[in-house]
Amino acid sequence: MDLNVRPEQMMSYAPYFDRLAVVFRKMDACYDTAATEYGFACSGCQDSCCQTRFYHHTLIEYFYVKSGLDCLSPPDRQIIQSRALEANAYWRNHREPSLAAMCPLNEAGRCRLYLYRPMICRLHGIPHELNHPVKGRALGPGCHEFEKQCSGKAYFPFDRTPLYRELAELEKTFRQKTGIVTKMKMTVAEMLMDCFKLPATTKKMMLPPIDIL
Ligand code: SF4
Repeated sequence: MDLNVRPEQMMSYAPYFDRLAVVFRKMDACYDTAATEYGFACSGCQDSCCQTRFYHHTLIEYFYVKSGLDCLSPPDRQIIQSRALEANAYWRNHREPSLAAMCPLNEAGRCRLYLYRPMICRLHGIPHELNHPVKGRALGPGCHEFEKQCSGKAYFPFDRTPLYRELAELEKTFRQKTGIVTKMKMTVAEMLMDCFKLPATTKKMMLPPIDIL
């Protein structure tokens, strides 16, 4: 997928990014409320969710990650580019979900684009529910670390439905703004490859320096 846009187009997306930041703050607040209720602390687990192959499905999350990436220095971007290539190469050769590659944005346990990270990075780990108008209520489990720390505790209501809905509505208006209709299903590593304009098969030694991309 090539979602290459001109810098002035990126600038025109700023109001949509502001709205996304508001939605993300709500997600963070809902997560924090539930985590506090359980007494759950997400830190230093072996089974890091940053090693999980999550797919992201909105264009606006892609461009928000890109806007964060654009703020980093060329050397930092070069490091991330290199890691994105390694992660993509790993996933190409290991399709089994149990085999993990670290997200290229994770540096010593910290997210290099923490403020810009996608929705699932904010919500994963805490038991939740989704309420579909036709299919009804579906419950989702907590992560392994949650089970270790909080198994046996009563479920604290954490309904992702209104949060998903807000993001979907924003995505709809953002798509109208951009005119881009391409479906999204990308890992963060794939988003980064696209931001760096690298095809999935690019060899590491063929890369140009980041500042001339
Ligand atoms: S974007 Fe950040 S929080 Fe999300 S998986 Fe990557 S390093 Fe982890």
